[in-house]
Amino acid sequence: MTDHTAPWVPGTVPPADEVSAAFWDATREHRYTVQTCSACQHVQYPPKALCTGCMSMDHLTQVASTGAGTVDTFTVVHRAPRPDLEVPYTVARVRLTEGPVVLTRLEPAVPGESGWTIGDEVVLDWADLPDGRALPFHRRA
Ligand SMILES: [Zn+2]
Repeated sequence: MTDHTAPWVPGTVPPADEVSAAFWDATREHRYTVQTCSACQHVQYPPKALCTGCMSMDHLTQVASTGAGTVDTFTVVHRAPRPDLEVPYTVARVRLTEGPVVLTRLEPAVPGESGWTIGDEVVLDWADLPDGRALPFHRRA
């Protein structure tokens, strides 16, 4: 069982806005969602005000996603851009099964002898935030 109070949660996570509210609300129940367009079936993440497939602003909805995917690329950060971030940590691009490529964090940050490899299969996990929302990240499948 996963401890959802991960020590690496950054001090501040941007508040939800009009475009991201549905995404953040779902995270409160650990539900991961991506945006899909009913006009052209494009799938995108993070939430945007318009569809990057057909530029429609009227056909976007948040739909459930498993969050599972494969590591597209990653980097281990050893020098924190802010003093409240603990290093090292690993930032990755993960290609979701549903198609979009998402920016995420990989845990463990510093993997064992095997290390992270491009193409690794990953699954979604959550780090709870003090305000009730949760931050998605990925672990090895
Ligand atoms: Zn579209």
